[in-house]
Amino acid sequence: MTHRSEPMMERRGRAAAKRLLMILVLLAAMTLGGDAWAQNPFTSTEFDPVFIGEQSEIEIGKNTDQELRKKYRISTDRRLNERINAIGQRLAARSARSNLKYKFTVIDDELVNAFAAPGGYIYITTGILKKLKNEDQIAGVLGHEIGHVVHKHSLKALQRQMLAQFGVQIMAAMLGDGGISGALLVKASEISTSLLLLKNSRENELQADAEGVRIMHAAGYNPRAMIDIQRMLLRESGGKNPPAIISTHPPSQERIDAIEQAIRNMR
Ligand SMILES: [Zn+2]
Repeated sequence: MTHRSEPMMERRGRAAAKRLLMILVLLAAMTLGGDAWAQNPFTSTEFDPVFIGEQSEIEIGKNTDQELRKKYRISTDRRLNERINAIGQRLAARSARSNLKYKFTVIDDELVNAFAAPGGYIYITTGILKKLKNEDQIAGVLGHEIGHVVHKHSLKALQRQMLAQFGVQIMAAMLGDGGISGALLVKASEISTSLLLLKNSRENELQADAEGVRIMHAAGYNPRAMIDIQRMLLRESGGKNPPAIISTHPPSQERIDAIEQAIRNMR
């Protein structure tokens, strides 16, 4: 007679062993990657597994959101927040991670920026909203940020940073299915908040753009608005005080060409 819970235990054991193996390989890759990752964890590599589970990602996102709300002034303009949220939800529903509960928040700041925390928490400033000319352009910025969430870019950066700071031991605590809690969650959220204003890698930007184009098209927005945004940012990048978004999501002609190509592929 076989014990009923045995196959389940075996499956869990195999899943945990697989994740542990991924962590070890990732650690080895980081060691080989050297200084690049230490300087900016947003570096992309071909081998890029995510072992922080979705439940933990959502918990980290929720805590990062609370940190951000202490750090920044959230817009009290209810109509504006509702409008941004409506555009964001329309896009998020067509994303590859539509199962997440997205939250779109307007930050009342002249800083021209937008960013995405793990778990579907997305922020856009009144500063950038002033520069956008229509709803398609707002959708372009939000679609790009949803693209970062779909590809788990900030989560991957957090994972690297946690591995660099705490090594494999603390990451092993994340291997369970019960999510992340206590001191580890606090630490992860602190790191996650500090990473939000770092520069994204070229690869991350191209991925987020491609996903953004796909989502915009599916949601009925004009993806060409993304090109308008890139052109606007490129024009401003030569100025004396380039907007923050240029350092966090650097615009480039390469991105414009890739967006054009993605739009052509859509038809
Ligand atoms: Zn970006």
